[in-house]
Amino acid sequence: MSRYLTADRIHDGIRFTDTGSILQVSEDGTIEALLAPGTVVAGEHYTGTLCPGFINAHCHTELSHMQGVIPEGTGLPGFLTRVMQHRNQGSPEEKEQSRWQAFRSMQRNGIVAIGDIANTTDTLDLRGEPGMYWYTFVESIGFTPERAPQSFAYAENTYQAFAAQEAAGNRLQQSIVPHAPYSVSEALFRLIGAHGSGKTLSVHNQETADEALFYQDKSGAFPAFLEGLGIPHADFQPSGRNSLQTYMHWLGTTRPTMLVHNTFSSGEDMTAARAHFPQLFWCLCPNANLYIEQRLPDIPQMLEAGLQLCIGTDSLASNHQLSVLAELECIDRQFPEIGWEQLFSWACHNGAKALQLENELGTFRAGTKPGIVWIGPDKSMQRLDGSN
Ligand SMILES: [Zn+2]
Repeated sequence: MSRYLTADRIHDGIRFTDTGSILQVSEDGTIEALLAPGTVVAGEHYTGTLCPGFINAHCHTELSHMQGVIPEGTGLPGFLTRVMQHRNQGSPEEKEQSRWQAFRSMQRNGIVAIGDIANTTDTLDLRGEPGMYWYTFVESIGFTPERAPQSFAYAENTYQAFAAQEAAGNRLQQSIVPHAPYSVSEALFRLIGAHGSGKTLSVHNQETADEALFYQDKSGAFPAFLEGLGIPHADFQPSGRNSLQTYMHWLGTTRPTMLVHNTFSSGEDMTAARAHFPQLFWCLCPNANLYIEQRLPDIPQMLEAGLQLCIGTDSLASNHQLSVLAELECIDRQFPEIGWEQLFSWACHNGAKALQLENELGTFRAGTKPGIVWIGPDKSMQRLDGSN
């Protein structure tokens, strides 16, 4: 038997539908049709908004035990130092419990897919849980060019553990990705770029002003940061350009590529990268940016440049919650002129495209089970599609 749902507003993942539109859904949450107003006598009316399940395009579920550990406003180099100091604190049981709590909170917050950074295999058990799509980005790190093959092999070992997990359809995907421009050598960038045909690449991009200084003339905080970690950087030659305009030439252009954070991306960076990569996504994690650097990306400039935006929560080390809606609210507070029609499309359809899930998730397309999220007037959230 079909259910017929109406709401004050229905967003289909791309745009708001006509007022009075009716969502026809089967009992197991499969979308059957989005009907024009007045087509049938509607069944259930919801005060507020209905939209497809959210895509959290950037998260670090394995850092969930670090909630509240790092103070706000340290800047990125200080933040990274503290992550390395504290990430092994706590017993394995405590960490596991934190990951499960974080996972359940994401489900409650209407999230149906996670682009999840992995440095370990800690999230293997969560991926076995039904009701969530995972795109695990196994991160490769290594700034010493001669050691690039070993750095890559280390990540490949982790990657194999995820790749060995089986699930129906596209529910579990994975790829090896570079961590960030200041932690990955050109040689390692090239090895990563050549791996994993067709799978999405993700990279932390321009999260701090010091990244640009490092690539322009090797100034800023990163030389001392690397020395503090005992990582030699004498081989690194600054390019005189911003990081993105340098390392983008070390990656192939045939794969979907997702740049994460982009807090300090200039208009010139945006134009250059957009021209370079045919399938490019810019992931915004505004609450984490405020937490770490107390600054937001130039989102109006991104819209001006015609970029495809999507949304991530980053980790509980740099955020108070894992909620895509909370990220949208943050953007809406700072840039109210953008409007919810666009904001929802970033959180739904664009995120699904970035994670190569646009055939399964992100829109109310007939035959799919994208999740149905009801957002009440007080911004409370509830799933209307059963267990999905
Ligand atoms: Zn991150």
